[in-house]
Formats: sequence, structure tokens, C-alpha cells
Amino acid sequence: MIVGGGLAGAKAAETLREEGFAGRVVLIGAEPELPYERPPLSKGYLLGSAEREEARVHPGAFYAEHEIELLTGVAATALDTVEHRLALADGQELTYDRLLLATGAVPRRPPLPGIDLDGVHTLRTLPDSDALRQAFARRGTVVVIGAGWIGCEVAAAAHSHGAEVVLVGRGDTPLHAVLGPELGGWFGDVHRRHGVRVITGAAVEGIDGDGSVSAVRLAGGEAIACDTVVVGVGVAPDTRLGEAAGLAVDNGIAVDEQLRTSAPDVFAAGDVANAFHPHYGRRVRVEHWANALHQGPVAARSMLGGDVAYDRLPYFFSDQYDVGMEYIGLHSPTDTVEVRGSLDDEDFRVLWHDGDGRVTAGMHVNQWDTIEEIEGLIRAEVR
Ligand SMILES: Cc1cc2nc3c(=O)[nH]c(=O)nc-3n(C[C@H](O)[C@H](O)[C@H](O)COP(=O)(O)OP(=O)(O)OC[C@H]3O[C@@H](n4cnc5c(N)ncnc54)[C@H](O)[C@@H]3O)c2cc1C
Repeated sequence: MIVGGGLAGAKAAETLREEGFAGRVVLIGAEPELPYERPPLSKGYLLGSAEREEARVHPGAFYAEHEIELLTGVAATALDTVEHRLALADGQELTYDRLLLATGAVPRRPPLPGIDLDGVHTLRTLPDSDALRQAFARRGTVVVIGAGWIGCEVAAAAHSHGAEVVLVGRGDTPLHAVLGPELGGWFGDVHRRHGVRVITGAAVEGIDGDGSVSAVRLAGGEAIACDTVVVGVGVAPDTRLGEAAGLAVDNGIAVDEQLRTSAPDVFAAGDVANAFHPHYGRRVRVEHWANALHQGPVAARSMLGGDVAYDRLPYFFSDQYDVGMEYIGLHSPTDTVEVRGSLDDEDFRVLWHDGDGRVTAGMHVNQWDTIEEIEGLIRAEVR
């Protein structure tokens, strides 16, 4: 039984069959869609250059062909880990031998005045991306609240649609919390060069409007007149089902390196899982595509009793305008940043070092095929 029809859940179902499991496989997804990948929702699909079907994890026929019972548009509402029972919103009660929670994450909605006005969006699902595409096509002014990865990608997409874009972030630069001031400043300049107004160190006080949004109000008094607001201030792991079932929850559902939760026969993978990582010797929760892609299969093998451990280094990618980047590893804010190449170009590499000089993370901009090499440096703890 797999709860959560996203990337982690769908890859787990695929792997169960690949490994020769011949029993019943049920994949339960609250969304009405076939399982899909989310990166295109802020990139190609939002830009209008990729079709809906391209985001699918598998073609529609895949599930029947592999005897995977796919239940879409129905949420699991209660989990009984003692009786091995799962209740669904449509009244069905199912029993399981092994269960995987791959419930992902939900966008944070800050309790701002005006957050429920028409024209205020978050971005997590295909319908969210459809709604944004329509709003951007009307052009006007788009204010993006939150200058993390989603905020930056959405700002780039809105700009490409011809909208006036204002990117408002709390940090000293966009992406400040994840990349630090130097690289965050570099990304800020990329947006400014494209004509996006970037406001840093800002606190949003509220969203004004009468029925629909008309302005975003900042502390200090400025009101930015706008037609559309996108709130991209991060996500929270969707632990509701696991938490209500009494599973250990600590910034996500706590699992060991075999992705086992605190309850027998219950596993977790993807954005929702805070998994013990052998390389770091502590739990790490990763909200990125590659983690869902690879943890789903490891969870499936673990469910089948395999001797597996998830030890991939955190990895992610982003595309904004003609800037493509990849990052691997995990650096701390106190690590030293070393840029190889020049920040004057849209083509360079970066390494982070800890206090002992060990490489902890690396990234590149538009220098493809370098990520394996950086991974090697991190794994070998090269100084
Ligand atoms: C717009 C966008 C762009 C992104 N771009 C990138 C990128 O460029 N690079 C990158 O590395 N990562 C990116 N990500 C992150 C990446 O998409 C996620 O890490 C990935 O989707 C996690 O997959 P998952 O299967 O764990 O969870 P999800 O994709 O969130 O899927 C979980 C599913 O479970 C369902 N569910 C939840 N609770 C229940 C329940 N009780 N019953 C039934 N179903 C339930 C949810 O409805 C959802 O469909 C992006 C994310 C978004 C939103």
C-alpha cells in the first residue's frame, strides 16, 4: 500500500514490480491526476513550452499493465498501524502488509491579511500552474513573495510571459538562506538584468484588495500595485496522516536509513521523510526531485525486506532564464565559498569547504557534466 501518488510513490510502485513482487500493489493519490513530476510546473509547463503529459511519471497505461491499482482523487484519512488498516475519504477500509507514506509537502501560507483574496496564488499542483499561466498571460504586474527557488523560477516565468515582475524577499539577497550573500547576489543581478525589480530585506505586512488583490504592502509603507501575487515561502512536510497515527515526527516523518518509520511495516520516502543519512550521521530531510526519484525505489526494496540504505547526497537543479544550475552536497552557513571561474560570466563552478578545508558541497552554473566530479570530492572528503 502506497499513500501519496507523487514521484516517490509512483517510483516505489514501479520498483515493487521490477523487483518481482507479485502481490497486490495499491497506490493512493489525493490529486485527481496521474502521478506527475513538479519541476516543470515552474519551468517548461508554466512557460507553455511543455505539455501536461510530459510531466507524468509514467504513461497512463503503465499502471494497469503492471497491475498497480491506482486510486486517484481520494485521500487516505486514517492509519491504524496496530491493525494494519487504512481508511480512505470515500469510506473504503483497506488492510496492508507493508505501507509507504509518500505524502510530500504542502506550501506554507503565512497568516497575512489579504492572503485569501482572489489573485493570490501558491504553486504546488498542476491546477496551480494552470492558474498562474492564465494570470501571467494577462500580463499586468506580478508580485512574487519569497525569493527562494520557487519564487525565483516563478519570477523568471512571469517575466517571460511579458508581465512586470517584482520579486520580494526577506533575506539580504534572493536565495540568501540556501546559497549565501555572494551567490544570492549573483542570482539577484540575473533577475535585475532581465528587468525584474528585486526588493531584499523586506517584510510583507499585508495584501490589499477588495475581493481581488490590488497591492502588496511592505513594512515601511510602500504599497506595490499589482494584479497577481504568488506566495512562495516554502513548504511543510505533509505529516498529518503519520502524526495522527502516532508515528515519530520531527521535521517530517522520522525514518532510519532503510526508510522505516517508528511503526512496524510502515515506511516513508520523499519530501515527507526525514531520513537518517549514513554520510552525515544524522537525519536529513530533502525537498527535491532527485530525492523523491531515488528514495521511492529504496523504500520499495526495503518494504520487500531488502538490505538497502539510502545514502545519496542531496542534489537539486534549477533553471531561470538561460541560467541552468545544479548543486550537490550540504553546506552549512559557516562554510567558506570558493568560486572557480568568474561571477562576471554565466558559467562557473563553486565549492564550499568546512573549517577543516573539506569539500562539503558544490554547484555549477551552465557547466554540465561537472556534478559527478564534485560528488567524488565530497565523498572522498577531499581538502
Ligand atoms: C513548482 C515546483 C518546482 C520544483 N522544481 C524543482 C527543481 O527544479 N528541482 C528539484 O530538485 N526539485 C524541484 N521541486 C521539488 C520536487 O518537485 C519535490 O521534491 C517532489 O515533488 C517530491 O515528491 P514526493 O513524491 O515526495 O511528494 P509530492 O510530489 O508532493 O507528492 C505527494 C502526493 O501525495 C498526495 N497526498 C498527500 N497526502 C495524501 C493522503 N493522505 N492520501 C492520498 N494522497 C496524499 C499529495 O496530494 C501529492 O500528490 C519542485 C517543486 C515544485 C512544487
